[in-house]
Amino acid sequence: MISEQLTEIYRLLFDRLGPQHWWPGQSQFEIITGAILTQNTSWPNVEKAITNLKAADLLTPEKLYRLDTAALAEFIRPAGYFNIKAKRLKNFLNWLFDNYDGRLTNLENVGTGQLRAELLAIKGIGPETADSILLYAFNRPVFVVDAYTARIATRHYLIEPGADYEQLRQLFQFNLPPQPQLFNEYHALLVRVGKNWCRPKARCADCPLNKLPHNPNPEYL
Ligand code: SF4
Repeated sequence: MISEQLTEIYRLLFDRLGPQHWWPGQSQFEIITGAILTQNTSWPNVEKAITNLKAADLLTPEKLYRLDTAALAEFIRPAGYFNIKAKRLKNFLNWLFDNYDGRLTNLENVGTGQLRAELLAIKGIGPETADSILLYAFNRPVFVVDAYTARIATRHYLIEPGADYEQLRQLFQFNLPPQPQLFNEYHALLVRVGKNWCRPKARCADCPLNKLPHNPNPEYL
């Protein structure tokens, strides 16, 4: 049963690695901003961009909505692709102000399916970003997947190689109890495994999952 395999993976990872304390961010809007800025860059660069916004006392929807896009791009320069990311942040803010009076609290009563669809319709917000916002900022039971998830899941025979984002999300989301805290921790643990052990060239010898059936064959990248 897939659900039992997923539960066993979680148990092995949590027992060995403990809680990962995701997602860093002191407010809902900081988490959203981080989720948009982290595309194609490392987290320390995102932190520098967020520090710039905080230092200028700009990290609120209202203030960033009113800020010129070019000025916003300068503040977030450390995150890389800063012109594109400034536009993406603005796209999110325009949607928030056009539809929800600029208030994140007005999203609390929107159903998860509808909110996900609306986020995905914003230019520059892809599935991983939308799901990170839903899970980490709004505590919705949506599983976030990424390249690490794909690699580990295929190498452990949970899904066929080449599965797309939606197939991976459904694999985890529909075979685990719908608990945001579980999804939060599970994703963070998989990222840790992907970074430390399940690299393109797998380091199975010391991996917490090496007692489970797996195939680190390069075809399962
Ligand atoms: S490194 Fe090996 S044991 Fe660890 S998750 Fe990858 S395939 Fe599995």
